Amino acid sequence: MSIDFKVVTRAAEMRQAIVHAQQAGKAVGLVPTMGALHGGHLSLVDASLAECDRTVVTIFVNPTQFGPGEDFDHYPRTMEQDLAQLRERGCWMVFAPTVEEMYPAGHETIVDVGSIRKPLEGVARPRHFFGVATVVLKLLNMVPADRAYFGQKDYQQTLVVRKLASDLNVPTEICVCPIVREADGMAMSSRNAYLSPSGRRQALALSQSLELAKEMFTAGETDVARLHAKMLESIQAVGGVEVEYIAFVAAGTVDLVQQIEGPTMIVLAGRVENTRLLDNCQIGF
Ligand code: AMP
Repeated sequence: MSIDFKVVTRAAEMRQAIVHAQQAGKAVGLVPTMGALHGGHLSLVDASLAECDRTVVTIFVNPTQFGPGEDFDHYPRTMEQDLAQLRERGCWMVFAPTVEEMYPAGHETIVDVGSIRKPLEGVARPRHFFGVATVVLKLLNMVPADRAYFGQKDYQQTLVVRKLASDLNVPTEICVCPIVREADGMAMSSRNAYLSPSGRRQALALSQSLELAKEMFTAGETDVARLHAKMLESIQAVGGVEVEYIAFVAAGTVDLVQQIEGPTMIVLAGRVENTRLLDNCQIGF
């Protein structure tokens, strides 16, 4: 499986390889990542491997999606381990461009997907989705795959990617894969590595609050204010977690709901030891 494995840093070379493979009748899958790979990333790779003939993983810590004072400089970078895992799994190519390759001098265009970038993550990170949308569109142009895989872990990001693909006529099929969790329920994230053992224990309160909401909903509670209050209470009881938001939105949107009357996403962000953590779940199928 590892014979063809190749790391490419140049966009032109990458694009040519994709076009060549597609001309030979191969379906290409793309998995965009910032590296420091964990089980969540690997589940996207596995979905691509299962559904496509060739899988390309991009590893690029995208500076434009980090705000001032955020963790761009010390974001975990584990390239050698990442490459070993991808080679082992049967990935075909890794695209690992430099910042200069992605953003050469004079680069000015940014992609604005409009209203869906503004609430939730957009409040604490007002320019974040400009960076995400721009880099994703650039990657989809550099790696014009048949399918591109994203994780439900970043719920609002999946909406942003679907919107840009739809509004800008990107032919790549956007595929969204379920959240992969640690054994105790915490959503896997490259940023979990920042947490101390006690911070890691406190952070579990986030996924547990989602479980609590699911249980309450199953028991008949549909009032968002009450669900929200109980979630907050359960997180505060543990301590150490600063909740940024807990929002109930109609699935597939960022529109807040007051009652659970149909498929609803509970999305949350919290800060533990200065690390921002995201999680979400769906209720009301
Ligand atoms: P990142 O490297 O954090 O930019 O993530 C790259 C891709 O992996 C994104 O589409 C994420 O949503 C996805 N991802 C990250 N964590 C998880 C997880 N725990 N489960 C599923 N997908 C994930």
